[in-house]
Amino acid sequence: MTHALIVGGGIAGAVTAMSLHKAGIGSTVYESYPTGADDVGAFLVLFHNGLEALRTIDAHRPVLDVSFPAERVEMLSHTGDSLGIRPVSGRESSPGKAGKADKRGGAGRADEAGATDEGRSSAGGEVLGPRTLRRAALHRALHDEAARRGIRIEHAKRLVSAQTASDGRVTARFADGSSAGGDLLIGADGIHSVTRGLIDSQAPRPRHTGQTTVCGYAANVQPEAAPAPGTYRMIQGTRAFLGCTMAPGGEVWWFANTPGPELDRGQLATETPLQKARWREHVAGLFADDASPAADIVRATGDEIVASNAYDIASTPVWSRGPLIILGDAAHAAAPNAAQGASMAIEDSVVLAKCLRDLPGPGEAFAEFERLRRERVEAVVERSAQLNNRVVPGTRTGREQAEPGSAGPEASDPGGSPSSDRASEAASQGAPTRVPVAGTPRTGDANWLLHYRIDWETPAGAGHP
Ligand SMILES: Cc1cc2nc3c(=O)[nH]c(=O)nc-3n(C[C@H](O)[C@H](O)[C@H](O)COP(=O)(O)OP(=O)(O)OC[C@H]3O[C@@H](n4cnc5c(N)ncnc54)[C@H](O)[C@@H]3O)c2cc1C
Repeated sequence: MTHALIVGGGIAGAVTAMSLHKAGIGSTVYESYPTGADDVGAFLVLFHNGLEALRTIDAHRPVLDVSFPAERVEMLSHTGDSLGIRPVSGRESSPGKAGKADKRGGAGRADEAGATDEGRSSAGGEVLGPRTLRRAALHRALHDEAARRGIRIEHAKRLVSAQTASDGRVTARFADGSSAGGDLLIGADGIHSVTRGLIDSQAPRPRHTGQTTVCGYAANVQPEAAPAPGTYRMIQGTRAFLGCTMAPGGEVWWFANTPGPELDRGQLATETPLQKARWREHVAGLFADDASPAADIVRATGDEIVASNAYDIASTPVWSRGPLIILGDAAHAAAPNAAQGASMAIEDSVVLAKCLRDLPGPGEAFAEFERLRRERVEAVVERSAQLNNRVVPGTRTGREQAEPGSAGPEASDPGGSPSSDRASEAASQGAPTRVPVAGTPRTGDANWLLHYRIDWETPAGAGHP
């Protein structure tokens, strides 16, 4: 039986292992951290496409259990005025309702049908998503589910190199001196992937997007400053951007996009009370001159605050070599603004397993995987970069900023990617045409991003994910 070595026990690693298991392919996951779910900092949003991909392998329920709905987005200006409300995942907005924000529910209720329409499952059943959850809770839920299915996850195994033998088998070598052999090696080792460099020593390095993302959890936000349950309040400040939502129990989860250079580990640290206080005051200070509730929300934050550099990789030209392949952030890291990186990693994992199940060897499977996935994921990277370039004053090209850590306001308008305009323009100018692949802007489907569904039963190679 084929055995895969999966490097990285994050989102893509765990979902790939479960998908391969469903496909009848064995695997072992090798994670560099000594324990699971160490990345406790950020929270994120999973959209319908990511949750539906999890449903394909029957792994959505544990994730639903540790998440809560993200239904609508309320935009606020730096003056605290509401600029309207719209469904997180729909295209409708509620213009004309501008005015000072109703502190508990915003300037008006979003259309409930619109708020959920995008989330109807292809099977017509329950609505899946969008959902907010802590990254640590997602890791734990996926790891527990993988373990329940008998999948082995080894910790403290940091990949440092890999060798391919003449018979095509691969040996992974780890920093602790141990090694493991398998038929293929799947690099799910995230944005700073080692596997990417083993496949192509010329692979591009992550690019800093010109912003730092800070996330915090505030237990004591005054009711008038807090968003209503199910609502993402997105506040466009004069110097930074803040998004927040209320978790069950009343805690307000927030992220701020702040402009600035790439920071080193020491500068990002939020371990000691002093470091936490410095970050809290730094972020609150960016909103101090605004009349919005942003500064009050940040100041109500206790111990839980984390800061991270935002990166992306526009395109990684080589995804596979011999029995090695990369997926998820290792292959196509997007800036956090479109809030789709985790969903893309999940989709990748399921599609790759399906290709490995149905095609004769890794080479054919990897080629089909790339054909099905490259255009879609690169369109998402591009869209996130565009959002980054639009929102916060002072980032690379000086503009506003959407958000990381959760649903950006523009994530609610996923169909209108400029990529689709560019593709049709290229087509009209006689550029070589390729057969459109489902789930890409070129298909002309306005819902290409959120309506992506994987047909697990139909064999790979039939032109559909
Ligand atoms: C602030 C922020 C907010 C975000 N918000 C959202 C959001 O709202 N929605 C969304 O969909 N996405 C969001 N994202 C993006 C999302 O987190 C990533 O796209 C997603 O985590 C990618 O999953 P992955 O499994 O490919 O990589 P990761 O989750 O990074 O997992 C990689 C794993 O590999 C391990 N590893 C690394 N190197 C090695 C090695 N050499 N050997 C062994 N193991 C190794 C790591 O320890 C890690 O566990 C956000 C990202 C950030 C930074």
